[in-house]
Amino acid sequence: MKRREFLKFATVAAGAVAAKDALAFDYLAPVGDPLGHYPYRGWEDLYRALWSFDWFGRTSHSVNCTGSCTWRGFVKNGILFKEEQFADYPEIESNLPPEQRKLPVYNPRGCQKGANHKEYVYGPQRVKYPLVRVGARGQGFFRKATWDEALGLVASKVVSAIDTPWSGGSHSPDAVTFFAAIPAKHHITLSGGFRLANLIGGVVCSFYDWYCDLPPGEPMTWGVQTDSCESADWFNSKYILIMGANLMETRIPDSHYFVEARYRGAKIVMVAPEYSPTSIHADLFVPIKPGTDGALCLGMANVIVGEGRFDRAYVKQFTDLPMLVRTDNGKILREADFVGPTPGLAPDADPRMRKVYLWNTAGEVPGPVIAPGSLGIPHNDPRWTLDLARFGIDPALEGSFTVTLQGGKEVTVTTVFELMKEKLAAYSPAAVSGITGIDASLVADMAREFAAAKPARIIEGAGTNHYFHNDLINRAQILLVALTGNVGTPGGGFDHYVGQEKLWAEHGFFELSFPLGRPKQRFQNTTLWTYAHADVKSDIDSILPRPLMSYIRESVANGWMPLWPKGTLDNGRDPKVLFVWGANYLNQAKGYQDVEGKLWPKLDLIVDLNFRMDSTAMYADVVLPAGSHFEKFDLSTTDLHTYVHPFTPIINLLHQSKSDWQIWRELAGALQQTGFKFTDPVPDGSTVTRDFSTLQSQFDTHHSRILGTTWDVSDDRNTCQFLLSASPETDRFNIAGPHRFANVGEMSSVPGDSIIKHPQRFPRTSEEWTSDIKEGVAYYGFQRMTEHKRPLLTLAGRQQFYLDHDWILYDFKEQLPVHKGPVDIDQYPLRWITPHGRWSIHSTWRDAKFQLRLQRGRPIVYLSPNEARARGLLDNDYVTIFNNHGRVDAHLCITPRLPDGLAMMYHGWERYTLNDGWQSPTNIRIKPTQLVGKYAQLNFRLNYWGPTGNQKDTRVDIRFKRRESSVSSAAASSAV
Ligand code: SF4
Repeated sequence: MKRREFLKFATVAAGAVAAKDALAFDYLAPVGDPLGHYPYRGWEDLYRALWSFDWFGRTSHSVNCTGSCTWRGFVKNGILFKEEQFADYPEIESNLPPEQRKLPVYNPRGCQKGANHKEYVYGPQRVKYPLVRVGARGQGFFRKATWDEALGLVASKVVSAIDTPWSGGSHSPDAVTFFAAIPAKHHITLSGGFRLANLIGGVVCSFYDWYCDLPPGEPMTWGVQTDSCESADWFNSKYILIMGANLMETRIPDSHYFVEARYRGAKIVMVAPEYSPTSIHADLFVPIKPGTDGALCLGMANVIVGEGRFDRAYVKQFTDLPMLVRTDNGKILREADFVGPTPGLAPDADPRMRKVYLWNTAGEVPGPVIAPGSLGIPHNDPRWTLDLARFGIDPALEGSFTVTLQGGKEVTVTTVFELMKEKLAAYSPAAVSGITGIDASLVADMAREFAAAKPARIIEGAGTNHYFHNDLINRAQILLVALTGNVGTPGGGFDHYVGQEKLWAEHGFFELSFPLGRPKQRFQNTTLWTYAHADVKSDIDSILPRPLMSYIRESVANGWMPLWPKGTLDNGRDPKVLFVWGANYLNQAKGYQDVEGKLWPKLDLIVDLNFRMDSTAMYADVVLPAGSHFEKFDLSTTDLHTYVHPFTPIINLLHQSKSDWQIWRELAGALQQTGFKFTDPVPDGSTVTRDFSTLQSQFDTHHSRILGTTWDVSDDRNTCQFLLSASPETDRFNIAGPHRFANVGEMSSVPGDSIIKHPQRFPRTSEEWTSDIKEGVAYYGFQRMTEHKRPLLTLAGRQQFYLDHDWILYDFKEQLPVHKGPVDIDQYPLRWITPHGRWSIHSTWRDAKFQLRLQRGRPIVYLSPNEARARGLLDNDYVTIFNNHGRVDAHLCITPRLPDGLAMMYHGWERYTLNDGWQSPTNIRIKPTQLVGKYAQLNFRLNYWGPTGNQKDTRVDIRFKRRESSVSSAAASSAV
């Protein structure tokens, strides 16, 4: 139809519509085949054939993205050629009729990295054969080896490391170290190495604290590792304060929920030093000086308390603000103060040291009363509850009182709330404005809005958690949401989503990983292990009450933190063997210079299990080819949704690769051939006979304590089924039931087949978590506290802001949340931040060409126009980022997105894409308050409590190195 004819027709059609109330389209003739007259049509089959497939199957990506998205891969002629989001998550509210459903569903779920995982499956990075190093470490020279040769070599080195006597023992299994990351992202992949470590006596290292994803304020305040909502609950919020989180870039599958919350009237306030893609979706962008977010929260708390906008009933019941504290020594008033400690019991085991007091104003005679729910109250005691009304308790929030202690001594006590008010007085909006750079009136406005909006929440990311004083920042953030009664309500709370930490099939996982039991396992906080064995020199002693090493020595001597091998500090023992799998230890290592320069030479053997030649593989001695995520069975979960779904082998294992589980099995077989045997004293005080002559069957046969049956776990799929069956969270008793592995979405299918199963929503949570899964409700934390009045596992039994451990109280004066700014020890002008980015998940996809095309194709450092101008730098200049710890080179991108004083590089660049490690300018800085132990809720536990490997306090400078000839000065100037 010619244009003139079309206009004429449209006019007539419109008239007809007006006249007859019919659709204009009704008058359009059906469009036939526009190429109907074309004589040769066979070429169209080329396009049809391009997208035809033989098979598709379900899988995911285990890359610590916290995404856990279910994908399908399409296969033709045995080749994976296309990936697509499966988009078949059932609705959370599937029981409701459509018109009553309120929550958007998770479909589709994925990101652009996952959409091109096949680049790694078939890419040049793929490890095809067992490799044995022949050149210097990191030089990149390896030779092909057979599996027998490679595993035999590893087995002989492991036995030789173990068979090394030292003055404290005749064997050294604690010199064999295992590092991997995140069970939830690939349960059995991770479990294989842990299981072998448990059987041979090796050391299992942490990752969540080392990566600095652990928010230490949560174990301190809540007695939990982390508990946050699934992302669908963001939709329920009315006010979202985003702090240090770049949701649009780093939470691609989930970010729609906060955007959609806006359409329901939620206000989004973005607090960050830099303008990010998330900022443009906020109602208010609040630029803040780096590392001062805690001060902002304390300033808002100042206004909320000062103007009486806090939730009085809530804080009396669910926080320690009414708890009594002695004014003579700052210690929490305990039962032992009245009746003395229990004879023969150490303080950390004495229930009298674990019962705290409230001042009851409701009794006939007001006075001190043991706080129901205190940690020292047995769980079968009726007082193990937060239901104060049941015991006629109405605690005072304010006031000072006199109590008579054992021996007749009278002391004055006051409430935590009184002490908190004194502390908050230092954080007036005007004072906070000076710290944060935020206008005082805005601080006050935000406080009033936050208090008025119900529910309100803080979403926190790595941006605020990666500071030296991350514990203080977290505690201030939690204070804000607790004062306003937002913890334990849908749409409210403090959500630190960073790290795929939630391990849902955890009972089965622990059994499978530690067949001899966790008490016999050597566990290690990786920050401390790396610090000690990389011989890191403390550069923060000048800001500590005493040298860091004296805190470390005391912590280890007291048994607060383990440090393997035993005798590291006194006998100078070193680790000898390091296994890395499902992680890229070297790439991520803070204090990179010391790790490569001092730790690496101490290791006789570094083994990497990998499908990709990453930085750790490149610097390893033996690289064992592992199957990719599309070639094996496993299970995937996350804390950002409540479903479990599988990895399945959509394609056969490529080249000579094997699944991680099978590699660990076969290594057990190689160790068995040595016939080695020894007696090993283990952490629980007992001894274990390590008999390698039966190691293969020890690995393959699992005697389940939970199920009371014996399982053959030599097969990957059967091992997945064991995990589901043995975990109460995934239907412990009903092996044939709806959560059978085959029903969590395993089945691949030919087109048109209807047997594809869906990801399954977990029916329940374990006791480790603070809420139940409810039908039709998005998961949010601390339901059990608010709905069932169940105490938390803190000393006070409630959200605890006052801590009286001697180091915290006396050495650091951090008994309550306070603001302490970044540790600016490095005398350089620019703060060095290395956030998560859009084009990689940590180091994964850092070297993938389709992602590189989106980001200038090589490592970039970002700088503000003013900072670039001050250094005479032009866009795309090759520059050196340096300080006294190290240096690294990159190309410059000048962007007004950054404020002055900040240099930013998205993290994770592989060592071989740089002239040094991207972490070279960082040092390992351990905060002593995170070394404490044997204090109520603060006890070492892998990935729950231990020092974090923070890195955002680093400062650097940048200098010109080279100008790219292809960039004209004029063009570059105009870019500036
Ligand atoms: Fe989802 Fe992670 Fe895969 Fe991206 S990489 S699609 S976030 S599972």
